Formats: sequence, structure tokens, C-alpha cells
Amino acid sequence: MLTSRGSAGGGSRGGRPGNGGSWTDGDAAEVPRERQRLHRRRRQLAVQHADRERRGPPPPGGLRQRRAAVPGRAGAGATDIDAVYVSHLHSDHIGGLEWLGFSTFFNPAAGRPRMFVEQNRVSRLWASSLSGSMSRSGMAKLEDYFDVEPVPADGGFEWEGQRFELTGMLHAMDGPVPLISFGLRFATGRGCFLITSDTRFEPERYGALYEWADTIFHDCETTYRTDGVPAPSGIHAHYEELKTLPAALRAKLWLYHYQPGWRPDAETDGFRGFVAKGQCFEL
Ligand SMILES: [Zn+2]
Repeated sequence: MLTSRGSAGGGSRGGRPGNGGSWTDGDAAEVPRERQRLHRRRRQLAVQHADRERRGPPPPGGLRQRRAAVPGRAGAGATDIDAVYVSHLHSDHIGGLEWLGFSTFFNPAAGRPRMFVEQNRVSRLWASSLSGSMSRSGMAKLEDYFDVEPVPADGGFEWEGQRFELTGMLHAMDGPVPLISFGLRFATGRGCFLITSDTRFEPERYGALYEWADTIFHDCETTYRTDGVPAPSGIHAHYEELKTLPAALRAKLWLYHYQPGWRPDAETDGFRGFVAKGQCFEL
């Protein structure tokens, strides 16, 4: 069930922010009329876009000609990775596990990576995704490739002496069933951090989390129609939605999970910026 709403669960700085805004698997009854909500949001963004057009923004066609720079690769190999965190089961978040599992399993010099994953996702991760190739006709199981450490939805784990807390975020609706992606929140000597993993734009629900964090890594889609009208999917926060957040909050946000191609100027809009591929952060 939904553990708290809005301003609930603020908690103390540097510690747990409560579970403010977190979603759990039993939240289906909490979710009202999702289609109408998305249509309403799209209409709002289209109207905002039309307003901007009237004020004379640059033509979208011209903007699309700008190309994003492609930074260098992070350069990490399989043996450089000693642990992996699984937020949810979409392939853009678990697609590398087969590579990691096989690469370390068949390398006698490699250790078995630790895997942190919400406990109710473990069996589905294997049965519905990885076992197709990794079971090797029934000979192997998930634990042959990874040291699996199931984590309760309202719990956390330690890695390298650092505590991380799972934070349920509403990613999408599978019909009446909420699809939860588990973000992470953690506090270090450098401040309080929130990684959203994948989430819709839910500012009212995440208010306490947003306030608690000093730095937020937020998924951000940059989908626009060819005429420049924002086209939010409803399963990620859209750039134009995040732009409506207060300036003090925007200044905490690093944006990731954006689409290839043209991107708005995030710094000018008050964000910290788009995370570049291979970019490293001191946390
Ligand atoms: Zn996803």
C-alpha cells in the first residue's frame, strides 16, 4: 500500500527521509483514472507549447539540427563490476545482466558479482527474463551467476560500507496494477542523494523525498513531436514537466534516461544538466 503522501515522512537530514512517496506492490487501489490524467497532462503541455510559440520561440526544425555530443565510454569491463543493483525488470535496466553473468561465470579469474534486488522481483527476473538463455537447458540457476541478496521493498542494503535505501517509485500502470521501480536514496559525507530509477512525474507524492535530497538523479524523457509539441509517454518524467518544478528543486536535478538527438538547454532552464555517458560523480 501507499505508505505516505505529499509532505509525510520528511524525517531527519542525513538519515532516512521516512518512506515518503514510496510505492509498494499493493497500491493498485490508490491509482485513479490514469488515462485521463495522461491526456490532461499532454493537453497542458501542448497548450504551454502553443503559448511559447506565440511568444516567438526558436522553430523546432531549427532546434532539431543541433546534435548531442557523444562522450567517451565508461570503459568498465565485466571484471570491474563487483555488484549490481536491479531497480525493475525492463530490459534497458537488466539487459546487461546476461553479459555480466556469462562474462564472469566463464572467467575463472572473475568473482561472482553481488546482486541487490527487491525480494519479490527475484523469481520473475529469472523465470521471465534471464533463464531463457542463462539456464543452459536447465543446468544453471540465477545463483550460479550472482550472489543474490534479496532486499525488502521497505528495506535497504550495504555496499562498500555505504547504506542504500530502496524507494518505490511509480513507473507506469499495467492496466490497474502499478509498476513499481525501486529508486535509491542514501546519505554520505557529501550530502543526501536520490536516484529515481524510472518514475512518472509525481511531484506531489515525492515532495518529502525531493526536499530531503541535496542532489537528485532524475529520469527525464525528451520526446517531442516533429512540430515541437512535447510528447510525454506517461512512464517517465518529461523534461517539460520537470521544468515546472520550483527553481530551488530544479537546481538539485541531474537528468538522465533522455532520448538520443536534440535536447533542450538544461543549464539555462535551471537544472544541473544532463548526465553525459561516462560521466563520474563524487558521492
Ligand atoms: Zn523502465
